[in-house]
Amino acid sequence: MSTLHFGSALLPSGWAEDVQVTVTDGVITTVAAGVAPSAGDERHALAVPGIASLHSHAFQRGMAGLAETRGDSTDTFWTWRETMYRFALGMTPEDIEAVATLLYVEMLERGFTRIGEFHYLHHDRNGAPYANIAETATRIAHACEVTGIGLTLLPSFYAHGSFGGVAPHAGQRRFICSVDQFAALMDASRAAVRALPGANVGIAPHSLRAVTPDELAAILPLAEGGPVHIHAAEQVKEVEECLAWSDRRPVAWLLEHAPVDRHWCLIHATHMTATETTALAGSGSVAGLCPITEASLGDGIFPTREFLAAGGRFGIGTDSNVLVGVSDELRQLEYGQRLKQLERNVLSDRPGASTGRVLFDTALAGGAQALAQPATGLTAGARADIVTLDMAHPSLAGRGGDAVIDGWIFASGADAVDCVWAGGNKVVEGGHHRLRGAARAAFNAAVRRLLA
Ligand code: ZN
Repeated sequence: MSTLHFGSALLPSGWAEDVQVTVTDGVITTVAAGVAPSAGDERHALAVPGIASLHSHAFQRGMAGLAETRGDSTDTFWTWRETMYRFALGMTPEDIEAVATLLYVEMLERGFTRIGEFHYLHHDRNGAPYANIAETATRIAHACEVTGIGLTLLPSFYAHGSFGGVAPHAGQRRFICSVDQFAALMDASRAAVRALPGANVGIAPHSLRAVTPDELAAILPLAEGGPVHIHAAEQVKEVEECLAWSDRRPVAWLLEHAPVDRHWCLIHATHMTATETTALAGSGSVAGLCPITEASLGDGIFPTREFLAAGGRFGIGTDSNVLVGVSDELRQLEYGQRLKQLERNVLSDRPGASTGRVLFDTALAGGAQALAQPATGLTAGARADIVTLDMAHPSLAGRGGDAVIDGWIFASGADAVDCVWAGGNKVVEGGHHRLRGAARAAFNAAVRRLLA
């Protein structure tokens, strides 16, 4: 058992002073406000809960910044995807583990304490299953184990190149499973995370491009009540192709034909009509927004204000991992809305309410729901995922309460996080993860080999 004491902490009920938190076996066991520090307490000025990145493709961290040169024609998501396929095709399981390990180190250093790993790079470089069909998922689990980040593993089912069961192309060969192979992959994936404290498993039908309706119906029971994540309506071309195939847009198709409820998370859902926006909000599912990746790929801007007004829930994901940070994602989310609406403080929900606080609270709750966490935040029963901020940072000094959250999100770079506990283990101190040096060295060696 360890005991922490914070001068100020953001609890589910709001800000509290003089907060003592006890942690046993990685879980918060008591939270008491208005308590003077005891002699054995580890003391910090200000704590907030760790937050989930509900959507990540870890291997893509290895190609961050490598798709920023203009091609022969208009560059789009689809040209970026060709670069991603070329990079993915070269990676060994050791490379995947090295890249994921550094990514999770960086996530923890920037305030993320849990990852929803939407994992589709399954097979060897020829497209054949490894001897352990979940070999690469095992590498992801190991990266989580050594870094301490919480894992929700979402093995992805990917079978086709486009709507209507079109055959996949050669660049997709490492992703492709039959329904039977996927069932075996799910069993092996559950085994891969069994020993990992706090880990859970869901499923991720990749998208309506990659999965037929019959396959979707066949794989959904494999979730066994866990989360279901799917990419939907990220791109205008995808919406047009879905309309040509089914006479329905992707979000409308899912709401009509799939049992979308609080267990589901629709990733992106960028391009929706007003009717779809209201219906998705009413479904109880979570919209998995990935603002930095959506900006990087030129996807578009999610109708966040309208979705929230209809009672919608969102969480944030780092997706392509081109840049990683809680504050960066939330800032990009709000700034996208400002650029679209020509207003400020768009996502604050009432006069006098801090925009940063609304963003933070909403993303915390949405991330926990989307990754099926029984409790979240600084409360008894939740995994001890705790972030302290550096109150000597110039954008935080002299501030308290919600102004700290606003200073962190809107006015600090990557260096406002001080310490991070993940599952009760203190893995980041002074802004640096204990594995930073080793993880960078292994990552750099892998990427140099891949780029040689
Ligand atoms: Zn994605």
